[in-house]
Amino acid sequence: MDFQVGQMIKMKKPHPCGGNEWKILRVGMDFRIQCIKCGRDVMVPRKLVEKNFRGFLQADTVQNEKN
Ligand SMILES: [Zn+2]
Repeated sequence: MDFQVGQMIKMKKPHPCGGNEWKILRVGMDFRIQCIKCGRDVMVPRKLVEKNFRGFLQADTVQNEKN
């Protein structure tokens, strides 16, 4: 799986606020992802992100198609 900063992803496990859509702020051994619904960001081990990953959101792909 190839994750990049700025991508929006969907996760199986929701944030306590109920949102399950996240924006990637940092990648590495640990990811920093921001909950789109409430705006909080958390550090999550890459393994957990991959395990809970459900798909990319379209926001960034739309831009790529224009190029
Ligand atoms: Zn949240």
